[in-house]
Amino acid sequence: MSDETFDVIVVGAGVLGVATAYYIQKNNPDKRILLIDRLSAPGQANTAMSAAAVRNMFASSTNQLLTDTSIKFFEHIQEEMGHELMFEKVGYLWLLGEEQFNHESVKLWMERMERSGVHFRVYNKEELKELIPGLNTDFSNDEEAELMNLREVAYGLFGADCGVLDPTRLVDFYYEEFKKISHVKPRFGVNVTRLLLEADPKLDLPGEPFVWQFKRVNGVVTDKGEVLRAETTVLATGAWANELLDPIGMNSLLKAKKRQLFVIHAQDKKDLLDLLYTKGFNELGCIPFVILPTAGAGGSVYFRPQLEEKGFWIGCGDKLGRAYDYVQTEDYANSEISYYELSLYPVLSKYFPAFADVKPVGGWGGGYSYSPDAIPTVYKENGVIVVNGASGSGIMKSDALARIADALYRGQPEAELYGGRKIPSDALSLKHRQVEPENVVI
Ligand SMILES: Cc1cc2nc3c(=O)[nH]c(=O)nc-3n(C[C@H](O)[C@H](O)[C@H](O)COP(=O)(O)OP(=O)(O)OC[C@H]3O[C@@H](n4cnc5c(N)ncnc54)[C@H](O)[C@@H]3O)c2cc1C
Repeated sequence: MSDETFDVIVVGAGVLGVATAYYIQKNNPDKRILLIDRLSAPGQANTAMSAAAVRNMFASSTNQLLTDTSIKFFEHIQEEMGHELMFEKVGYLWLLGEEQFNHESVKLWMERMERSGVHFRVYNKEELKELIPGLNTDFSNDEEAELMNLREVAYGLFGADCGVLDPTRLVDFYYEEFKKISHVKPRFGVNVTRLLLEADPKLDLPGEPFVWQFKRVNGVVTDKGEVLRAETTVLATGAWANELLDPIGMNSLLKAKKRQLFVIHAQDKKDLLDLLYTKGFNELGCIPFVILPTAGAGGSVYFRPQLEEKGFWIGCGDKLGRAYDYVQTEDYANSEISYYELSLYPVLSKYFPAFADVKPVGGWGGGYSYSPDAIPTVYKENGVIVVNGASGSGIMKSDALARIADALYRGQPEAELYGGRKIPSDALSLKHRQVEPENVVI
């Protein structure tokens, strides 16, 4: 089988790969860019498994910039370009105990949001009780709550500019725009088995590359035995990054972690319907995305409204006790009902008794691709551009990350994000990282 040559190969057609392919093609119209994925269509892996929520309420000004500009671009796509993303500004509401609210990390978080102009407001317990009558704020004499390390809700931190959208529609937007301007038909059902690491320059000696030679990645090898060559290989392979990078000695510093969502339907359940259609937070007249106070070893149970299904999706950012893996495994797709019943449900029903005795009608799992500081990694080394490490918030950062990857491709020192704000192109690199670490990871 003969080699094929392109200017750029983008491996991975999740939201990060598709958006990156689009920006590189848009700004380099003559280049031949091949987008490939082992699944049968774009956006079918973790992009489709997400809670599909977007927020600019981060503690790190780096993440604030990445999300704020991306969210504004999503609004632009929907409002001005007429591409429906089902972007609904339901808002995000963090429920916090007294101690948690007064903790220095929360003070710093609020200070940094104020400094960056991220809008938020604080509700006290009485205001919360009035807005959400179904919220239990009284754990006095509740031995179970004490045993479970649950804190009484004292405050709420609310961001009105946050919301939910349909990631499939977002992927469609980038994919359709990419196809309009690209010269090469994307390929699906193609598994990349390894990166093509070669001597630079090649001397065509048997056994190359040797340790004394310079080396670079000149493309990929696929499971069909094809050798696909390119000057630049973009790796947007999400929670599978290590599979391709580790074997050639590039340390991505990324780890995969399983995350799950459970679906609860509210039909015919008055208390749950009342909760779903809580007024006063947004124009949709629904409960925002709600994050419960941190319990025990740092796991925050959360839920988001799902208005089309008249229900909720429940999840949890469990920390200690949930394994990190080398790459995402097949088991990630399965939701563990015992995890819901024994870990999430007792917490959820304590704060919101409307969930008591209601069972999930379904659920699914997927993977986060964690970086050490919970800030994405975008860098160019050895002929490879890596776009990854979104640490559970890649949809909401996708536009900014893709623009940074394109700036790296073009050798620009700065990337211009939507709205004109700028970031050094190597700010998210491993070698010249200039980021504020994040501690508001859900
Ligand atoms: C339960 C859950 C909830 C989440 N909630 C949110 C949320 O509310 N908001 C948010 O912004 N983010 C959320 N996320 C995170 C978000 O889903 C990810 O950050 C985002 O999808 C990352 O996009 P990606 O393109 O890197 O990954 P993916 O969508 O996983 O795409 C990677 C692609 O690479 C392909 N690939 C990998 N290796 C190879 C190979 N060797 N050959 C060919 N193809 C390959 C895969 O098939 C896949 O299509 C959540 C994730 C989970 C699991």
